[in-house]
Amino acid sequence: MIVGIDLGTTHSLAGTMQSGFPILVADESGERLTPSAVYFPEAGVPVVGWEALEMRAHHPDRVITSVKRLMGAPAGEIRKLAGQTKLLCGGNAVSPEKISALILKKLKSDTERSLGIEVSRAVITVPAYFNDTQRAATKRAGELAGFTVERIVAEPTAAALAYGLERLGDNSKVAVYDLGGGTFDVSVLHLSGGVFEVLSTNGDTRLGGDDLDASLAKDWNVLPRVADGIKRELSSVESVERDGGVYRRAELETICRPIIERTRKHCIRSVADAQLSMSDLSAVVLVGGATRMPLVRAFVAEVFGREPDTSQHPDEAVAIGAAIQAGIISGDVQNVTLLDVTPLSLGIETFGGLMNVIIPRNTTIPCKAGEMFTNAVANQAGMRISVLQGEREMARDNWKLGEFDVAFEPLPKGRARVGVQFELDANGLLHVLARDTATGKDTVVRIDSAVEVSDEAVEKMLGDSLEHAFEDMDERVFSEACLKADEMLPAVVSAIEALGDSVSQDERRALEDLMDDVRLACEDRSTSRLKKSLAALDEATQPLATQLIEKAMAGTT
Ligand code: ADP
Ligand code: MG
Repeated sequence: MIVGIDLGTTHSLAGTMQSGFPILVADESGERLTPSAVYFPEAGVPVVGWEALEMRAHHPDRVITSVKRLMGAPAGEIRKLAGQTKLLCGGNAVSPEKISALILKKLKSDTERSLGIEVSRAVITVPAYFNDTQRAATKRAGELAGFTVERIVAEPTAAALAYGLERLGDNSKVAVYDLGGGTFDVSVLHLSGGVFEVLSTNGDTRLGGDDLDASLAKDWNVLPRVADGIKRELSSVESVERDGGVYRRAELETICRPIIERTRKHCIRSVADAQLSMSDLSAVVLVGGATRMPLVRAFVAEVFGREPDTSQHPDEAVAIGAAIQAGIISGDVQNVTLLDVTPLSLGIETFGGLMNVIIPRNTTIPCKAGEMFTNAVANQAGMRISVLQGEREMARDNWKLGEFDVAFEPLPKGRARVGVQFELDANGLLHVLARDTATGKDTVVRIDSAVEVSDEAVEKMLGDSLEHAFEDMDERVFSEACLKADEMLPAVVSAIEALGDSVSQDERRALEDLMDDVRLACEDRSTSRLKKSLAALDEATQPLATQLIEKAMAGTT
């Protein structure tokens, strides 16, 4: 077992692969984020995380935060930067590596407690701009914590793994926009041979959510900690009431915009440094807690000219990716790649017992696809949705995963509109949603066993579909022709009736004969005869259609 760790400036997280899925470790109180803060009491052992953060109010000079900024820095530099805490300088100073090691040790023991086993190997992430000294210092911190550090991984690379960007295909380029607590960086990655390479990185190590808190605190006249709380809430609601004051998102955006604006030039530069233009990017992903802000999301969309991918929690993506990387190294992730694509097509049964594929086999998951269906019969008050899996043309030859009914307003044939959407999540679970577009009423069912089929079963299904390819095709064509016949025969009968005497006896007899041909071909299940007789009937009824139109026109004048 190898643990993946995001050793962040403000927060750190750990994750492992569990039955093929990256899962983050929760501490004893269920928190996945651990503040990268260490409290050194006068006597006794150092305290890490939330408790350390709480001590900051009482012992500001005994709590160390943002030690990541000092990793690998020369002693002189540390002394200069560490003005706030005496702990980092002087005779028996604690080194940044040792402080980071305490944070890593806490994550190690949380992981071991939650898994119930000892964990001694780790993958640790660092910013793409970390140089060799900083990377080596991070590795040493891991070793001090008792880990064998299997690999140091760039944060944007880990994030790209978490977002599943390896599925974009070879030679894709992606941008990773990371706005954390105290740092901002943007990287452009190139995917080649299944491996991400950092083409360029740019940023500002003195720009992050903390700067937003400071500005907000000043404008709102509250403590930075309070400003942070309000800021977070305003990412999901428009206004917040706190101690009698009302704080609005619009106001926050006015205060924060100039700070966010400062990230623009780094985005432009990193894309230019990669010798690319914005339109060469296949995706832009968000990392860092501050990118939860709608203002930041809109800003990123504007700068890159495309909507950012928001499918992952931005402050968890790096740890998730580190866990995946850990799984790749330990060999655990192979099982996931099996689940990466749907082994068999998924669809529903439509008129005539046909299989209508909605998600074709080999589609990478997670994925979403939908189609619009209508009523085959007038005044039908609902339809049954049979969810199928398999490669055969006829519904009955595929596996039925489940079925459910959708009610809709009775309407003339072909007028009801039911949207059916299939969503296959990353766990291979299929969620089927059917919506009557007239009423907006949704029916949602979850089908659990969609992808969990054995290799042999998949092979047999594929083998069968090849073996029966021609019969299947023939049957599909026949079914479609039957549907057409069902539509045409009553239409011809009513046209003859409507036109009355304008259809001569001879014409009438000829049409009856052609209709009989169609009916017989249907009964005999002969595809070729059915197609031929339908074409003949179609042609013979052309004059009727013309006459009907003329009659209708005459009626209106
Ligand atoms: P780091 O990688 O530097 O450790 P994080 O990714 O944990 O940082 O981001 C921390 C920052 O994200 C903090 O400034 C915090 O206020 C901000 N943040 C977290 N959640 C939200 C939210 N919902 N809305 C706005 N900002 C948030
Ligand atoms: Mg981070």
